[in-house]
Amino acid sequence: MYADRIKYLPPYLFAAIDRAKQDALAKGVDVIDLSVGDPDLPTPSHIVEAMREAVRNPENHQYPSYAGKLSFRTAVANWYSRTFGVKLDPENEVLALIGSKEGIAHAPLGFINPGDTALVPDPAYPVYRTAVSFAGGTPVIMPLTRENRFLPDLEAIDPGVAAKAKIIFLNYPNNPTAASATKAFFQELVDFAHDHDLIVMHDNPYSEMCYGGQRSMSILEIEGARDVAVEFHSLSKTYNMTGWRVGAVVGNAEIVAGIGKIKSNVDSGNFGAVQDAGITALKSSKKIVEDICQVYQHRIELLYNCLSGIGFELEKPRATLYLWAWVGGDSVVFCQRLLEEMGIVATPGVGFGQYGEGYIRFSITQPTERIELAVERLEKMGKVMPMQ
Ligand SMILES: *Cc1c(COP(=O)(O)O)cnc(C)c1O
Repeated sequence: MYADRIKYLPPYLFAAIDRAKQDALAKGVDVIDLSVGDPDLPTPSHIVEAMREAVRNPENHQYPSYAGKLSFRTAVANWYSRTFGVKLDPENEVLALIGSKEGIAHAPLGFINPGDTALVPDPAYPVYRTAVSFAGGTPVIMPLTRENRFLPDLEAIDPGVAAKAKIIFLNYPNNPTAASATKAFFQELVDFAHDHDLIVMHDNPYSEMCYGGQRSMSILEIEGARDVAVEFHSLSKTYNMTGWRVGAVVGNAEIVAGIGKIKSNVDSGNFGAVQDAGITALKSSKKIVEDICQVYQHRIELLYNCLSGIGFELEKPRATLYLWAWVGGDSVVFCQRLLEEMGIVATPGVGFGQYGEGYIRFSITQPTERIELAVERLEKMGKVMPMQ
């Protein structure tokens, strides 16, 4: 019945964990789920209030514009200017998305012909890979390893492979490894894209989730980036708005237009009221996000101190919502053990790709008292957890 593109989807590696979680819940275990990156804190109330007003506006009851309201695109451009010092033309360098996942999933359809290739990191957010496959292309993996600080080794990419590829996907601050990229790396990447005529698609939903004085960049701050790159941004993580489905892709006008051409044949834009509320979100004072980050930083501190204390090998995250811990064995088996013995759900690293094997990912998007309870359980198990 199904098309090959469904048949050949990678196996759903989280299914076993899901089943084990359901079994544990059925047995009455108080399961602490640290597997999903979905903010538990509510959307700030001034944004919710803006939405209430916007819903009443009859203009928002009709079809929205494909590209997004000019007022929304202008708010994105102003936010980029304020946050990164990057000037964008809201008319042709900004396109509204129904969440950045939507844009990422559709983007390859505008650039990949059957048989084309795209460079994708591994481990990574799985959408890059499936989107390339859905467009008839072949993803070529760039391993992210601890030795390279979870940055792709561009020099290791076969020049023939690079010459053939059309797109390179990246994501810093990175899910799942929590790594950040330096300015030098972004410059190297942009130069690499120029040399090999590649389109850079940088996924940047965690730019504001930074701790301890660290600041994240937009790739568009790099000289020459606007010739080759677009950046996907999202209100999901920054403003606790995952359920609202609103983001944007910004940067090179031709690439943005290509994504827009696909989208205008698929969807009819975001609900206007969501865009209006999104404008309010983007105009929020920095304090709103600082307060959210303070909560996350405290949770990271708790979980990091605990995990490193009982023998996990990991770095303290300076960005994102994740702790990426080396367990040195089968990550699915390890997560099953974690669930059976402690009632804690984590994500097996292999779910993000073959180079994620040996790691597990903990998310901090559960209430602080639940993370404290997880810490209590982990510490009770003592120094026996990681398998060697
Ligand atoms: C959460 C996340 C997204 C953003 O998702 P939205 O569709 O904007 O909610 C994109 N990329 C990565 C790597 C993510 O973790």
